[in-house]
Amino acid sequence: MTGSVFGWSVLSGLGLSRFGRLQFEPAEEKRFIQDGKAARQTHFLISGIFSLVAFNLFLLSDWMMVPDRFDLALRLRLLVYTPVALFFLVVSWRFRDFALGLPAAVTEWVAMLGGVFAALCLVAVLMLTDSPYAGMYRCGLLPILVFGTVVMRFRFQLAVVFCGCIVALHLLTVFGAQGAPSPYPELEVPMFLLLLAVAFYTLAMNYRTEAEERLRFQRKERAAVLRRELEASQATLEALSRQDALTGVSNRRRFDEVAWQCWQRHHQTGEQLAVMLLDVDHFKAFNDHHGHPAGDQCLRLVAKALQDTLASGDGTLARWGGEEFIVLLPHTDEVVAHRVADRLLQCVRALQLRHEASPTRDVVTISAGVSLGRPAMDGRNLSTMVALADRALYQAKHGGRDRLVMDRTGPGN
Ligand code: GH3
Ligand code: MG
Ligand code: MG
Repeated sequence: MTGSVFGWSVLSGLGLSRFGRLQFEPAEEKRFIQDGKAARQTHFLISGIFSLVAFNLFLLSDWMMVPDRFDLALRLRLLVYTPVALFFLVVSWRFRDFALGLPAAVTEWVAMLGGVFAALCLVAVLMLTDSPYAGMYRCGLLPILVFGTVVMRFRFQLAVVFCGCIVALHLLTVFGAQGAPSPYPELEVPMFLLLLAVAFYTLAMNYRTEAEERLRFQRKERAAVLRRELEASQATLEALSRQDALTGVSNRRRFDEVAWQCWQRHHQTGEQLAVMLLDVDHFKAFNDHHGHPAGDQCLRLVAKALQDTLASGDGTLARWGGEEFIVLLPHTDEVVAHRVADRLLQCVRALQLRHEASPTRDVVTISAGVSLGRPAMDGRNLSTMVALADRALYQAKHGGRDRLVMDRTGPGN
């Protein structure tokens, strides 16, 4: 990707025109600033330390280029600038949380004014020196400019203000210097042009860097939204994969999971539990007479009635297949199992769904087969209990339907 194509894609990605401001909508802008605050604080701190060292190393230039004002340069660098800069660096390091609590603009402005302050130290020397190298010494403003726009990477608008200040200070030293006039006045214009060129190129770089930073932030936010959507749809799929599509109650897969956990718990506590198989009576005849869609609706209503009736207790209902449902009742003895099964049979009767093809009743009914087990003691497993409940259900069907039969091979019989 070439530079200009890349630049265009960055800008169009941000929804900005070529000369657009680097600014999101207010809410997004706030998130962007907040997101980068801590990293920016660290960046300012580290760059600040390095630049402070570099700033003092320029004492060598002071000594070589403006020896007549070296004492002033020494005092300004070591006794004025360094303590002030150290104060801000130490505060932002030792009281990081406090500094992070301040509006981001405060940190940005403090850093920018730090750069202007460094330039002012140079300007003070330039205003008073009689050195013939003063014009060259003015080039010291260039690294300060680069430091602000490229190293510190002030936000673009602030970087423009910063460059404006440096250019103004440059002009101030050209026209307002008190020292001896420059022996090379013909160099002033090219030196000024050099400053403008450096300001322009570094600002362009600063703009692009911020545009890329904003683009990265947008991509990160979009990725987070996508990830959340994916997680939500995964959760939905997960739930659906454990639900019966027709009736909405748990399916066999979910039942197997719950039953296995319940079985393990009962194995530890030694408690008794009950398995109940429920089957709609003469359902084939219902379908044949009332139609398959009516049969589906009947199954939905039966499942809802069973679910609602069980809701007050802690039994697990699932569709076992076709018109059969299964219920697992934890810590349940024969008396309780009997009572719950009675309530379930009754709730289906109470639906009063007309079954005009039933040879036994004129409303839809169910039959129930119940088995009891104590996992720790009787050596049964879940499938044995289901098989026993099925056998009891078979007996209930043969006994005339709309009734429950307890398996009599269980504990205590
Ligand atoms: P019994 O009283 O002995 O249980 O008789 P039944 O007619 O209910 O039993 P059978 O096993 O002969 O028939 C079950 C019927 O349930 C046959 C099948 O078409 C119907 N069925 C199974 N699943 C569905 C379903 O999802 N929707 C509808 N509408 N019918 C179903
Ligand atoms: Mg059946
Ligand atoms: Mg049936």
